Amino acid sequence: MYEVTLTTLIDGKALATKIKENLKVDIEEFTKATGVVPGLATILVGDDGASKVYIKNKIKSAATCGIESFHHNLPEKTTQQELLELIQKLNVDDKVHGILVQLPLPDHINDDFIIHAIDPKKDADGFHPENMGRLLIGQEGIVSCTPAGVMEMLVHYNISLKGKDVLIIGRSNIVGKPQAILMLREHATVTMAHSRTIDLDKKAQQADVIVAAVGRAKMVKADWVKEGAVVIDVGMNRDENGKLCGDVDFENVKDKTSFITPVPGGVGPMTIAMLMKNTFQAAVSSLK
Ligand code: NAP
Repeated sequence: MYEVTLTTLIDGKALATKIKENLKVDIEEFTKATGVVPGLATILVGDDGASKVYIKNKIKSAATCGIESFHHNLPEKTTQQELLELIQKLNVDDKVHGILVQLPLPDHINDDFIIHAIDPKKDADGFHPENMGRLLIGQEGIVSCTPAGVMEMLVHYNISLKGKDVLIIGRSNIVGKPQAILMLREHATVTMAHSRTIDLDKKAQQADVIVAAVGRAKMVKADWVKEGAVVIDVGMNRDENGKLCGDVDFENVKDKTSFITPVPGGVGPMTIAMLMKNTFQAAVSSLK
């Protein structure tokens, strides 16, 4: 007898569209009641093509939701001091409720130093140490967009984490670590894997839920995944033909899973939707 698993494709694109539509309505009401238009300042330093596309999508989504954008495109040679001065200006600008600095910054600018300079209340990405600390100890704060988006997808698809064995592959500050804390909060038993993890395939085979956030095309293979597992693919890579793909070997893995996110159309759009949510949340909090 063969066990047949019915797979549900988690449609991050559709869910993100719905979240942004709902936000638009909430923001309209908020603006009518308070006269405040939520504002998002975006900063891009240099000319990186991928970063330009990300920023363009964020500005487009902001417009869809009724969030005003203030974009700052700075030349590659901008000094750390100049960038710092811009952030200090935005920190005290009443029209700006969220500040996003597109990473990575050029090598001569220290990412951590710049993130630290953003007012934690305007930290739309949720990368500031204060917000990270709040997340760690379970206090209200702004949560990193990608892991927050993953959690919204799980809620939407009624996927409970309680008592589940979760394997998160990748331990970055912006994805893996906050993802682990959020899942722990929902009572999962979380294992975190990284480049020095031994027998990663065997650990993956034990997992009820796998979150792949590595940046290595199609690394998670079908024989790593147990029948009926939930697979969340955060990775964004190019395959051998230059086509966008995730960290999961989607075509071969999908039929074994109960739920799986595609790339593109999975986690990516949710990240942007969460950025909009964080900006609105910051605008609401600014009146408290
Ligand atoms: P990162 O900072 O480079 O971290 C990658 C992590 O993967 C590190 O913890 C690293 O381990 C681990 N790793 C590397 N090789 C490994 C291996 N062979 N086995 C197990 N673990 C390994 O990356 P990130 O910023 O978290 O991003 C991860 C991926 O998600 C990238 O593809 C990125 O483009 C994508 N991403 C997507 C979104 C979205 O919205 N969809 C948002 C953010 C990121 P060590 O710590 O030991 O080095």
